[in-house]
Amino acid sequence: MSNGWQYPHRRWNPLRQSWVLVSPHRTQRPWQGEVAQKSAPAAITHDPQCYLCPGNTRAGGARNPAYENVFTFVNDYSALLPDLPAAPDNSPSPLLAAEPVRGICKVLCFHPDHSLTLARMTREEIRPVVDAWTSEYGEIGSIDWIEYVQIFENRGAMMGASNPHPHCQIWSTSFIPDEPAAETAAQRDHLARTGRCLLCDYAQTEVAAGERIVFANEHFVALVPWWAVWPFEVLLLSRRHAGALPEFSSDERDALADALKRITTRFDNLFETSFPYTMGFHQAPTDGAAHPEWHLHAHFYPPLLRSATVRKFMVGFEMLGMPQRDITPESAADRLRACSEKHFWPRT
Ligand SMILES: [Zn+2]
Ligand SMILES: [Zn+2]
Ligand SMILES: [Zn+2]
Repeated sequence: MSNGWQYPHRRWNPLRQSWVLVSPHRTQRPWQGEVAQKSAPAAITHDPQCYLCPGNTRAGGARNPAYENVFTFVNDYSALLPDLPAAPDNSPSPLLAAEPVRGICKVLCFHPDHSLTLARMTREEIRPVVDAWTSEYGEIGSIDWIEYVQIFENRGAMMGASNPHPHCQIWSTSFIPDEPAAETAAQRDHLARTGRCLLCDYAQTEVAAGERIVFANEHFVALVPWWAVWPFEVLLLSRRHAGALPEFSSDERDALADALKRITTRFDNLFETSFPYTMGFHQAPTDGAAHPEWHLHAHFYPPLLRSATVRKFMVGFEMLGMPQRDITPESAADRLRACSEKHFWPRT
């Protein structure tokens, strides 16, 4: 079907219930904008200045243990707090609405080695990360006032990551944030209308079509979604219907570690750089309700466009109208499929 779309069109995102503008004819236009720096792995395995390296003292005064695989702690500069004083009750207008929110912000270090990334870690080193995500989701999600657990990784200075040490964040909130709330509504609609899961249906459709699949293993499928906004956006879907990480078997957790290694390695190899991205898992809310509609998945949103130094900006029409892309999801999937799964910068 995509081959019939050589001219401007818009594609429907059924998970977000929104459109994206696709302009395939425009990929040849000359670029005269910003040229970013090519990035390489950090040169040192332990940085005495890094607040995430083992044994170092953090800004708040706490000292990191000499951890050997993963290490989790509450963020010293949390954006959300678990306990609040009573809220002021003085809004002068319903148009100036506000309400108190609570939350817990944690940091999870993936590995003690400062120079590593998921792409350059082994599957065996990534597995404890998957296990930690699983137990954190279970433990934090079981707190009665926590309605959502958002696990995410900002990779690279281009995405605003303040520290190259391999780590992610886990922000848990007393409310369901907008993105997963929109996806909850869309998945609930699809289930009510068809009696089936939206992302089970979508995974089957994509596996049958083939052209947007980057790779698959026994339990996961990685693809450039039909509605991708970012040039090399990837959606990672479990083959089996599961709403959240604790539902996965040990084999499925191994397969997830494998899939993460393979996606991030292909990303790095694409432009031979440490590929920046924001990655995160969307899972069932932990609001106490049953969520049969929810199908766990991970989004990878990388900003690079056509080299290690040219990034996509979301400006102009995209800020005021709707997201837009030039390179089609099908050609992005072609490019990622062509990438090696052996990292261009091997570990010594
Ligand atoms: Zn470090
Ligand atoms: Zn499903
Ligand atoms: Zn999602």
